[in-house]
Amino acid sequence: MPTLDILALARSPYKEKFAIPRQPGLAPSVFTRIELQAPFDDPGALQGLERVSHIWLIFCFHGVGSRPESLRVRPPRLGGNQRIGVFATRSTHRPNGLGQSLVKIEKIEGTTLLISGADLLDGTPIVDIKPYVPYTDSVPDATNTIAPSEPESLDVSWSDRARRQATAEAARLNENVIAVIEECLAQDPRPAYQAHDPEREYGVRLWDLNIRWRYPSDQSIVITEVSPLA
Ligand code: SAM
Repeated sequence: MPTLDILALARSPYKEKFAIPRQPGLAPSVFTRIELQAPFDDPGALQGLERVSHIWLIFCFHGVGSRPESLRVRPPRLGGNQRIGVFATRSTHRPNGLGQSLVKIEKIEGTTLLISGADLLDGTPIVDIKPYVPYTDSVPDATNTIAPSEPESLDVSWSDRARRQATAEAARLNENVIAVIEECLAQDPRPAYQAHDPEREYGVRLWDLNIRWRYPSDQSIVITEVSPLA
């Protein structure tokens, strides 16, 4: 059995697991850099990808602690309280700790791929990169009744102050700060089992920013603060 080499590292705005969408493509404004690592940092390894729009990334869930003890998991799509087999899910708690995500190539710069829509924690080790091949990878009549469609998204609004802060931080970082925050929070990062509490404030780190929000109703979010971390 061969050991896996780290071919590349992902550099993303996601500095913690909380609030990362549960699949790729759900936050298309998120840009991630896939940087080839020595001895694989040869631009020739990416040659030909300019003819390809999307790639599969195979990666290690390096942010998951120990190996799972159980082969049954509780997916959020089933409310977080029903157990099913790990191989019927995309759970991060799997025996070999490998994930795969389909992402769009935006640009190729030397030994770096700029991609959009990834669901990868910053620093994720990439162990393979493969082109998406539409004629075989796309199955129009495929079914999955566990996750039949994209999850419903929440309404996201801003306090005046938070929107002013986000606009200023977007200019400083030269990033799509407003769209990224809206797309990520619309996915509802709360654990599936958590009861609605309008008083509770939630927070997450994106880039070097501290994002805070509340849930005025179970289906809506208001962003209250976007400030650089101290
Ligand atoms: N698309 C991949 C797949 O199907 O294998 C990942 C699906 S998994 C449900 C997505 C979640 O993995 C994200 O919401 C994030 O919390 C978590 N995640 C992303 N990168 C990770 C990493 N390097 N280590 C641990 N967890 C990670």
